[in-house]
Amino acid sequence: MADQPRDKGPSLKEQLWDPVAGFGVTFRTMFRKVVTEQYPKEKLPTAPRFHGRHQLNRWPDGLEKCVGCELCAWACPADAIYVEGAENLDGPTTDADGNPVQSGRYSAGERYGRVYQINYLRCILCGLCIEACPTRALTMTNEYELADDSRASLIYEKSDLLAPLLPGMEQPPHAMLLGNDDDYYRGEFKGAEQ
Ligand code: SF4
Ligand code: SF4
Repeated sequence: MADQPRDKGPSLKEQLWDPVAGFGVTFRTMFRKVVTEQYPKEKLPTAPRFHGRHQLNRWPDGLEKCVGCELCAWACPADAIYVEGAENLDGPTTDADGNPVQSGRYSAGERYGRVYQINYLRCILCGLCIEACPTRALTMTNEYELADDSRASLIYEKSDLLAPLLPGMEQPPHAMLLGNDDDYYRGEFKGAEQ
């Protein structure tokens, strides 16, 4: 049987050159701009159109834009949205003795989203739900900190998703304060911020 050639290992030139080449990479990198983000100590702003946590928006008088149509839930490929609609009932919200009764107007449509949940264990933040929403009730914020140590707390309720009341808004239920159905439908209110 013929002798196999013996492995002589790296040549002297390779032994000298390899460390120089290796440290060359190290030194070049030392003077480059650092790209590591120091999260969570430093939080950098996201891109303006980043898809983060959802928000349920309001009209300028505080009424909810969501009309409980469930189109967002049907559009969701991850089955992450649960909506239960209910009728808006114009009229008093308390009886003659001042006790609360099941009536009131929460949105400017016929119906409103009585129950609205988004399950962030399922949501892939694709944005198809906000595309489907006919009233722009549902949009996405830039908020991305959606981790938690409890599964239950990652199912966001309507109260977690509703936009805060801004100055000039009233907590629903209340009447349509800015005009009739058409005004809300077109979003044209004289003297009101939108
Ligand atoms: S962003 Fe996508 S996955 Fe998340 S709730 Fe909307 S449609 Fe569903
Ligand atoms: S958020 Fe929009 S699409 Fe979803 S139920 Fe409300 S109005 Fe309909």
